[in-house]
Amino acid sequence: MYDIIIIGAGTAGMTAAIYARRAGKKVLVLEATTYGGQIINTQSIDNYPAEPNISGYDFATKIYNQVKEFGTEIVFEKAIDIKNYGEYKEVVTTNNTYKAKTIILATGAENRKLGLENEEELVGKGVSYCATCDGAFFRGKDVAVVGGGNVALEEALYLTDIAQHVYLIHRRDTFRADQKLIDSIKEINNIELILNSNVVKINGKDSLENIEIVDKNNNTKVLDIDCLFIAVGRIPENQNFAKLINLDDKGYVISDENCNTNISGIFVAGDDRVKQVRQLVTAAADGAVSATEVIKYLNNNI
Ligand code: NAP
Repeated sequence: MYDIIIIGAGTAGMTAAIYARRAGKKVLVLEATTYGGQIINTQSIDNYPAEPNISGYDFATKIYNQVKEFGTEIVFEKAIDIKNYGEYKEVVTTNNTYKAKTIILATGAENRKLGLENEEELVGKGVSYCATCDGAFFRGKDVAVVGGGNVALEEALYLTDIAQHVYLIHRRDTFRADQKLIDSIKEINNIELILNSNVVKINGKDSLENIEIVDKNNNTKVLDIDCLFIAVGRIPENQNFAKLINLDDKGYVISDENCNTNISGIFVAGDDRVKQVRQLVTAAADGAVSATEVIKYLNNNI
């Protein structure tokens, strides 16, 4: 029986593991794919304190090594179900069933994809899902953002201070984003709205060359840009646990500020919970907060 099973070896989950191991708890981390989570594909991180310009891979590997040095057990299996038996919980994976007194869900959220050819291949080479992470590499260049929600408009606004020209492409003529953001966008000179249009092609071999968009009258337009920022929403990876854990209408885990879910002994950390800011720093912060709360829970329930 483990003290804690952490589901997900991204920044939140691995930070939680460090805190829990330092407190002497028996910890198992389950990871469905590779350690590191979303950050692993980021070319360079320059908004994490004290680690300027580190690559996402190096950042994730540093945390992973730290987690291993603390003697954490990490198993690469996908968690497909969790069961609550009060004093203990079970995590069912594709291969095994594990028991623990507590669980931290740190499954993250993945970016919704456009599903176009070259989209995955050109990530880090002119396709990005995060202007805050990658925008600075396109200073003085022409870029485009696709999407019509708060994130797309915030990213477009952020990019107008960096890029020469920002196209904002949205599939409808009304935005889902807050009115305040829409008003701000309209006041800025180097942003061009392309409405009722869909990105249909991402062209380029070793790096992005251009994108093709089609409007509602079926007219095609080619945009020569240096980076396409895709901001068409995110998909939290919580559906396997929805029977037990309270989720909001978008599928994010509802929690209090100490990362408690609706189930006693089950906690949540990182991008899979309802919150405003989803960044590396806040993922690490959630890891620390959730583990501290778990340690308190375990020590009170001996
Ligand atoms: P979102 O609100 O779900 O918006 C996603 C946008 O992408 C929508 O405009 C949608 O178009 C578009 N879209 C979805 N699939 C697409 C596709 N295949 N092709 C083209 N466009 C597509 O997602 P989000 O902007 O990531 O925001 C997520 C949540 O965080 C929201 O609840 C948001 O309000 C919140 N948030 C809040 C703040 C804030 O309060 N300041 C800041 C950031 C995020 P349609 O509109 O046509 O569906």
